[in-house]
Amino acid sequence: MKVMFDRVALIGIGLIGSSISHGCRRGGLAGSIVGSARTPATVETAMRLGLIEQGFVTAAEAVEDADLVILCTPVGLCGPIAKEIARSLKPGAILTDVGSVKASIVKDVSPHVPQGVHFVPGHPIAGTEQSGPEAGFAELFDGRWCILTPEPHTDAAAVEKLKKFWEALGSKVEIMTPEHHDLVLAITSHVPHLIAYNIVNTAAHLERVTDSEVIKFSAGGFRDFTRIAASDPIMWRDVFLNNKEAVLDMLGRFTEDLTMLQRAIRFGDGETLHRLFTEARAIRRNIIQAGQDIAAPDFGRTKGPAPATPPSAKRK
Ligand code: NAP
Repeated sequence: MKVMFDRVALIGIGLIGSSISHGCRRGGLAGSIVGSARTPATVETAMRLGLIEQGFVTAAEAVEDADLVILCTPVGLCGPIAKEIARSLKPGAILTDVGSVKASIVKDVSPHVPQGVHFVPGHPIAGTEQSGPEAGFAELFDGRWCILTPEPHTDAAAVEKLKKFWEALGSKVEIMTPEHHDLVLAITSHVPHLIAYNIVNTAAHLERVTDSEVIKFSAGGFRDFTRIAASDPIMWRDVFLNNKEAVLDMLGRFTEDLTMLQRAIRFGDGETLHRLFTEARAIRRNIIQAGQDIAAPDFGRTKGPAPATPPSAKRK
């Protein structure tokens, strides 16, 4: 494939930044890739792994002369970084981000974007619970959606170019408003993460079940929540601080539906439970049909050997 951008600057080189780099290398999409991170250790690792050709201490230095600048840091940092890099952005450059929340990023970043630079916010709906520059891989975006949320006045050619870039990384692209993005993601991603964090902590704080029992019998559903709850705490703190209204709206609905289940259990209403579980099961089939997961049992996990010794957690 031909080079789409002569110089790509990654600000933040964690799971998403490093996956973009691998994807660019795979498709030959970038003439060169440069970057900066918060710590020198991450920049050094990114250099060692060949994710970037040049690493910089500051984001302002990294974006100089870049045709495409991608903010790949936690959501809360996008505004301050946009302010820092504003004067160093090349005229005509495309500035984008990968943040899991969109309306607050548009609000925080837009005031700093200089005339002649095209800001096109984005969010790849792809990830894992891993973090850091070593966690990335080129296939992360294959077959996954990437949502772009440009404002109506944004340069159409810049939007089209970024759309083509994400398609070349393997994604399917959809365009919507930042507010609609935040509402959709509140129910498909943000609330599920909150539930996972909560149930893992509830189990951890139980006094009548031991820690070792929680771990030993985790395959009964709990284990799948722990995978989601292993996600980066800073990233998720920022998501909830920046998508407050949509998350609270969805949590309200979730709580109402939970109360309905609670009542059905209390009154032995098996018919309601069976109906609601049947409806929910159909959603899983739809996700598989849409190519967003595979039908293999146990989420496609390959069976590893059982641990030789049981975990030695002490009794509470
Ligand atoms: P990550 O693996 O934790 O990486 C975050 C990166 O940001 C690190 O390289 C970190 O540098 C850097 N950083 C932090 N503060 C910085 C600063 N002040 N200046 C420059 N760099 C800074 O996170 P991630 O999973 O890639 O997530 C990044 C973004 O992608 C988030 O906005 C998140 O909402 C979004 N996203 C995540 C997922 C997912 O599943 N993880 C999916 C879609 C979108 P150090 O390593 O030096 O600390």
